[in-house]
Amino acid sequence: MPAPAPIRTAISAPFWEGLERGEIVVQRCAACRRPVFYPRAFCHHCGSRELSWHALADQPVLYSFSVADVPVAPELADQPVQIPVIVEIADVRLASTLEQVAPEEVRIGMALAPLIVPDGGGGLLLKFRPA
Ligand SMILES: [Zn+2]
Repeated sequence: MPAPAPIRTAISAPFWEGLERGEIVVQRCAACRRPVFYPRAFCHHCGSRELSWHALADQPVLYSFSVADVPVAPELADQPVQIPVIVEIADVRLASTLEQVAPEEVRIGMALAPLIVPDGGGGLLLKFRPA
């Protein structure tokens, strides 16, 4: 059973189009200058609708993680261990999963690299691996 693919909406489309170019793009608010992620129609900090998209070029680092020995969804039963993570890139934190590393080698603060992979439904997923 394939894992459910993300749903691309009019609001989130620029994020997915960024992944197609190999970029991680997030919204930033013109009013309060804070990042907005996940994609939204308005700033969740101040309510402004003046949002624009910007590529994140800083080094991703591991902010937090967990090790899921039991699949977190039936569709992921073929993956023996998952590592759900929060990744920090400059002042933005993203939820994702960590790949290509043994759970015992994972450390908070470790440098990461984006891993953009097919989602099985014609789109892309943003995962991370050690840099
Ligand atoms: Zn704002």
